Amino acid sequence: MISNSKNYDYIIVGAGSAGCVLANRLTENPENRVLLIEAGPADRNPMIKIPLLWMQFVKHKYHDWGYETQPEPHMDNREIECVRGKVLGGCSSINAMTVVRGNRYDYERWKKAGLEQWGYDEVLPYFKKIESWDGETNSNDLRGHSGPFKVRPSTYQDPLYDAYLAAASQMGMGIAEDYNGEDQIGVARSQQNIFKGRRFSAADAFLKPVLGRPNLTLKLKQFVTRLIFDGSTATGVELAGTNGQLNVVTAEREVIISSGAINSPHLLMLSGVGPADQLKQQGIKVVQDASEVGQNLQDHISASVGYRRKKPGPFLAKTRFDRLTVDLVRAYFFGTGVAADFPGGLNGFTKVDASSDVPDTQLLFNGAPADSYPWFPIVKPAWQDGFGCRAVLLHPESRGSVELVSNNPRKLMKLRQNFLATERDRYTLREGFKICRELSEQSALDKFRSDEFLPGVKVRTDDEIDAHIRATGISVHHPCGTCRMGSDEQSVVDHQLKVRGVNNLRVVDASVMPDIISGNIHAPVLMIAERAAEFIHQAR
Ligand SMILES: Cc1cc2nc3c(=O)[nH]c(=O)nc-3n(C[C@H](O)[C@H](O)[C@H](O)COP(=O)(O)OP(=O)(O)OC[C@H]3O[C@@H](n4cnc5c(N)ncnc54)[C@H](O)[C@@H]3O)c2cc1C
Repeated sequence: MISNSKNYDYIIVGAGSAGCVLANRLTENPENRVLLIEAGPADRNPMIKIPLLWMQFVKHKYHDWGYETQPEPHMDNREIECVRGKVLGGCSSINAMTVVRGNRYDYERWKKAGLEQWGYDEVLPYFKKIESWDGETNSNDLRGHSGPFKVRPSTYQDPLYDAYLAAASQMGMGIAEDYNGEDQIGVARSQQNIFKGRRFSAADAFLKPVLGRPNLTLKLKQFVTRLIFDGSTATGVELAGTNGQLNVVTAEREVIISSGAINSPHLLMLSGVGPADQLKQQGIKVVQDASEVGQNLQDHISASVGYRRKKPGPFLAKTRFDRLTVDLVRAYFFGTGVAADFPGGLNGFTKVDASSDVPDTQLLFNGAPADSYPWFPIVKPAWQDGFGCRAVLLHPESRGSVELVSNNPRKLMKLRQNFLATERDRYTLREGFKICRELSEQSALDKFRSDEFLPGVKVRTDDEIDAHIRATGISVHHPCGTCRMGSDEQSVVDHQLKVRGVNNLRVVDASVMPDIISGNIHAPVLMIAERAAEFIHQAR
């Protein structure tokens, strides 16, 4: 092992969504020497930039850590993929680019649980600080207009979307003018971090513009294998480069773990911070017995209804091999054409339980079948056009966990999502699925809708719908909560995201969420990192 003589003030482990925000904000002070370490490579893969191709990262696991759940007992014992980005930008370089802040009452719930600095009024300034919103809204004072993270409404054009909006009105669901504004409930055009027709990741927004700062060092393809402690004070990290050689780098002020909801608890445990019995079993010296590290895992699970389309929509013609090739090149170089967006531009939020103060169900629209592909006459027939709607259970009661299987840092964690383990979760997702179906069956969609192919009209009773959900339900890729922030002593981090029981160590990423919010969690993770940067500045 080599000890690296160069010291830093702060070491950030993981250049994902949170890590990129922190690197930017901490280096605003020229006195801070910051090292940002990322296990993955640079984000040079052209597919990252092209919005239409985001699903390819899930299908083919490019730039992925390779996690799958253990057989899920309430999902027909299926092992469900849990794709996690291993590349500059982390998951923000491979995600679906939908921007949702969540609901005002999500943060009020956190505040009521004792996290007084995390209520809606307290987090709103940070949501505003991160974003530049480029769209219509009646909630101008709630939106950010000069932040680094560019957000725009989906531009995808298909008459199907207007018909869905009409169907939502027919059904009394309402249209949300701006779901990140005053009122989240209703169906609306999605908001996306796409800028000039290209993915605008956390790396694009926060990191690349400041890479020239002399007080910022970025190390790529370096895997942090454990944290170094002097007693109970974190003093640095051990990392393995591409040649496998181990180096130690020291931090004079703090080590900040931003390795994501699965890897952050892993790194803590490998370093001796975690449930003592698990650590001892793997022969790891206990620095701090922290029973909740790796517990409290939450994610969004979803179930779809799908229809064949009477007449092909505009997307089908554009996926003819020759046209699509041209459009992919156009999207990469000029940010124009069909590949500069993707056919899924609507988002809805509703309540199965009318008494809930937050939406319990999200509706995601698919404007084309997930398995559409490039086709060409004679060589490969065109796909059958279709569309669908996916219900997402926003506030699961079920909790999963990540557990150590080895003291070898390269061995992946054992992951249990424990999806749909409670009757209330199963009920809410089933009712959410029925809402998707009822919405899709409104007369406003008659001219587009042919027969239902997923799950098919024969699936009607609650038992049949439950069986469909067990057999086909998929994650929306929002794992969080495994290093829970709380005001209680059992929580992993306190309200300033400092790891309890040790010094000079914070966790800043999706893992600190006390519970999951009403929607996609990327923008909330950026907000958390923005807020954390201020805590760190104040502590200096
Ligand atoms: C396929 C997919 C689609 C999604 N779609 C959306 C969406 O449309 N909208 C939305 O809001 N959210 C979406 N999400 C979720 C969202 O992108 C993530 O929740 C968010 O990016 C997580 O940020 P993070 O900082 O917690 O972790 P990450 O962004 O995962 O960052 C962690 C980083 O740490 C690195 N790392 C981990 N361990 C180590 C180590 N030991 N040493 C060095 N580096 C390490 C990783 O390689 C990674 O770069 C999606 C996620 C996925 C995977």
